[in-house]
Amino acid sequence: MSVRVRFAPSPTGYLHIGGARTALYNYLYAKAVGGTFILRIEDTDTERSKAEYEQLQIEDLRWLGIIHDEGPDRPNPKYAPYRQSERSEIYMRYAKLLIEKDLAYWDFCTDEELQAMKEAAERENRDPHYEGKWKDPKHRAEAAAKVAAGERGAIRFRAPKKEFILNDKVKGRVVYPRDMVGDFVIVRTNGLPVYNYCCVVDDVLMDITHVIRGEDHLSNTVRQLMIYEAFGAMGLGAKVPEFAHVSLLIGEDRQKLSKRHGATSVNLYRTDHYLPEALCNYLTLLGWSHPAERDIFEKRDLRDVFNLDRFSTSPAIYDLVKLKWVNGQHIKKLDTARLVELVEELPESAYFKAQSPEWKAGAVEVIKQYADFITDFPKMVDEMILAETLELSETLKDILSWETTPKIISYIDSQVAALTSAYVGEPQLTSWTEVLKKEMGVKGKPLFMGVRAALTGKDHGPDLKLLIPLTPVAVIKKRLTQLKNL
Ligand code: GLU
Repeated sequence: MSVRVRFAPSPTGYLHIGGARTALYNYLYAKAVGGTFILRIEDTDTERSKAEYEQLQIEDLRWLGIIHDEGPDRPNPKYAPYRQSERSEIYMRYAKLLIEKDLAYWDFCTDEELQAMKEAAERENRDPHYEGKWKDPKHRAEAAAKVAAGERGAIRFRAPKKEFILNDKVKGRVVYPRDMVGDFVIVRTNGLPVYNYCCVVDDVLMDITHVIRGEDHLSNTVRQLMIYEAFGAMGLGAKVPEFAHVSLLIGEDRQKLSKRHGATSVNLYRTDHYLPEALCNYLTLLGWSHPAERDIFEKRDLRDVFNLDRFSTSPAIYDLVKLKWVNGQHIKKLDTARLVELVEELPESAYFKAQSPEWKAGAVEVIKQYADFITDFPKMVDEMILAETLELSETLKDILSWETTPKIISYIDSQVAALTSAYVGEPQLTSWTEVLKKEMGVKGKPLFMGVRAALTGKDHGPDLKLLIPLTPVAVIKKRLTQLKNL
């Protein structure tokens, strides 16, 4: 059977980076094995679920390039619908089948009765498992009569009294001891089915072969295994999928990842103009490693290498410094045209946008060596290219004190004053350097540092041949005036 995996978000907020990582692992696995990646919306929590969050999460996934093959907007008639809120009838149908086979039962206990049972169990030091009257099959007829009379009850799953074993792709062998969970509700009195139940019904009916999700679901899995077994017993041929519970994301203080560790919703990275490919790259590395230990890659580079055997069992530390580095590496890899486009999208890029295509291409090529973020570009245009004021560092003062430097400044000043063009071209710069070398006898460090100081008013920066043709002559003149007046 071909691989079918799913990402099953609850639309109760923005897409969290942990969710994006889970989605990505499922997507990468589907792509690596030629399987199908499904998006299922788990919106049974009617109070917290909102249609707009579903939309926003899908948009964020799309921005990340995590595109589903099936989902609410791309239904395969064999498996639709993909929103749990539209599958109530299916959940009810299977719940009734479970009741018929005595694998589940109607429970009419009130909240007070349940509370009293729990307290009694605590007093007597017993497991707080359901021991209400409805558990006993001899009340089946009475329960059926109540249902027929329109009375509302919960549907409770009869938890088998035995040990369950999960061979998880990440966690290895997980043993759930007998008696770990008692009979649990699968459909609430208000008619709403619960997550653990819907999840299995859907995974079975949608032919899900692999469940890749966060380790926080490990404790749910025992209930889900029980339901799989019950479906198997009903002759539904429910094959238990392979499970891979990926490690938790934690902050550098080793606490569960939260807002105080930085932005936790994908949306914020999108508004901050992070590169989606960089965020995907970084998220992939949070708990998975490349077989060749590569740090920088695109999703498509993983097609031949992504598998479920390289997950780490220890928690992954969310590290914004590493993410920044990864983002910077992807910026350096971008082709010039796309980089120009991305910089132009920034509202603060007014100056940049007004320049010629050649200037823009030149500027991004120079700046990308230094930038970690797209938002660095307009700032660096100002700092590296347009800054008029001198940066009188100790090094610059030292350069200015060399006996050759005033000669260089005065020569360049005379040349610049005679210019009629808006920029100094590279050939011009080369010829000035030649004159300084041959006719004025300046060479080596004093020459290069002196020329840099004269033209940029700084002691360091990008290659002058790339930088100076981008700097308006008017700006260079202002720097020279200050240098002469020191
Ligand atoms: N709706 C669940 C969540 O958002 C999905 C869990 C699962 O993948 O089974 O955590």
